[in-house]
Amino acid sequence: MEKTHKAAFLDRDGVINVDKDYLYRIEDFEYEKGALKGLQALQDAGYLLVIITNQSGIARGYYTEEDYKTLEEWMLADLSKRGIHIAGCYYCPHHPQAAIVKYRKDCSCRKPKTGLFYQAAWELSIDFNESIAIGDKERDLSICLETGTKGFLLCKDKTVKGTVQETDASFTVTDWEGICSFLCDANSHSETASGS
Ligand SMILES: [Zn+2]
Repeated sequence: MEKTHKAAFLDRDGVINVDKDYLYRIEDFEYEKGALKGLQALQDAGYLLVIITNQSGIARGYYTEEDYKTLEEWMLADLSKRGIHIAGCYYCPHHPQAAIVKYRKDCSCRKPKTGLFYQAAWELSIDFNESIAIGDKERDLSICLETGTKGFLLCKDKTVKGTVQETDASFTVTDWEGICSFLCDANSHSETASGS
């Protein structure tokens, strides 16, 4: 199948919503500052929005897979009401030392493993070379080491910044604004290029 779409691979906790250790209750869900505007900007720029999230809370027995899905459904519906459409939502429920035997697995889908990225690319016909990944941990950007995907690390704590390697394909930004300005720049460059 021809790979035709570009995608934004989004981590969930700490990117879309405020990371509140093992979040599963709707009433605790709170959007990250700038996330809604950022998601809209990515969508407007033609990126498929794809969520890839580690949910080891399931393996640890902190909440069930059904709890996770209830929150996911609510979030997708809430985003949809705001005009933001998520093309795919992929989660890993495993952990190698899981309390729940069913989920105790050294799987290929828990980030930094890249199984879910490849699954999404296959199912949604995504071209990695045109895509970006956004996360608040380096493990969210592991796909950038294997493919031409560009990475954005949302790094609110500037003291961590020194440990992150910035390359041509990976950028450290302090908030969603940083991603939005990258999109604006890319946009103005392409306008310049096609304008002459
Ligand atoms: Zn897994």
